[in-house]
Amino acid sequence: MIDLNKNNIPDSKRFNAKESNANKFLCIVLACITVFISVVCVAVNSRNKTLLANQTLAAAGQANVSESINISASEATTAPATTQKAPSIIKITTEPSTQAQSTTGTTDASIIKIEGNSANASVGTPGTISNPTIITIDESNWQLTLVNSGYRIPDSYSPDLVYVCGSGERLDRKIASHYEEMYRAAAADGVTLTPCSGYRSYETQERNYNRKIEFFEGQGYSREEAKVKAATIIMPPGSSEHNLGYAMDIVCVEEWFEDTAEFRWLQENAADYGFILRYPKDKQDITKVIYEPWHWRYVGVENAKAIKSSGLVLEEYLGVA
Ligand SMILES: [Zn+2]
Repeated sequence: MIDLNKNNIPDSKRFNAKESNANKFLCIVLACITVFISVVCVAVNSRNKTLLANQTLAAAGQANVSESINISASEATTAPATTQKAPSIIKITTEPSTQAQSTTGTTDASIIKIEGNSANASVGTPGTISNPTIITIDESNWQLTLVNSGYRIPDSYSPDLVYVCGSGERLDRKIASHYEEMYRAAAADGVTLTPCSGYRSYETQERNYNRKIEFFEGQGYSREEAKVKAATIIMPPGSSEHNLGYAMDIVCVEEWFEDTAEFRWLQENAADYGFILRYPKDKQDITKVIYEPWHWRYVGVENAKAIKSSGLVLEEYLGVA
């Protein structure tokens, strides 16, 4: 016999009805929580991207913008973490092979080839800021490719680029895995190496270099003087390691970066992954570039360790200081 209440509904059914209502309520609460968490996640993600873009744009907008933060607004926006299908160009051949050893830097920029696979690699005589020596890259020794105001890559150079560490920054495909290995090792030690500026196009470099020249001309310098001064801060197009896709500016493009745990970690460990501090404080007379604790250049593990232990900069290591 079933007990009936005043509504003639069995207690068991009333209980089931209550349970059903409780389940519905629980489902609604869970759904609300899920939607709330999703909205929070999207908002946080969006905020982080905005902060990163703003940080980069703010850096690019500084009056005394350095070579390493020389990026356009369009390049500063966060790009998808995908691989770019670019032509795989490592070796540039723009001259007859008989001219490969040419080392002069005359009015018509000459073309040389980086030879050898050791620190004694011949890189020929550098050109000047106005008449640079245009180089080709030896595929067998690409890690030691030297670019500076006297040695430049042609404007047609187009590296095979990939995005690194889920950021909007790209590096040459040959280097990306080494950078990411270093990034992960630092993260395992509790250090976040935020990529700030990787590859930069020739056109962007040219635009920002010209802007810097105009700045110094406005300060009363002659055109030639302004070119030289500008080059210590923003490298001429084709002479920046960012144009090669071989360097990454990390975390912060300010000199106080040297006082951070990130910089100390890089000083201690970067060579193990093939990266060097390219523009040290005490070598500015050789590099002709301001001190940049944030700029880390790939040269291969063996070379990086040798350069670090010797205290030399790349120009000295290659014998062209
Ligand atoms: Zn840089």
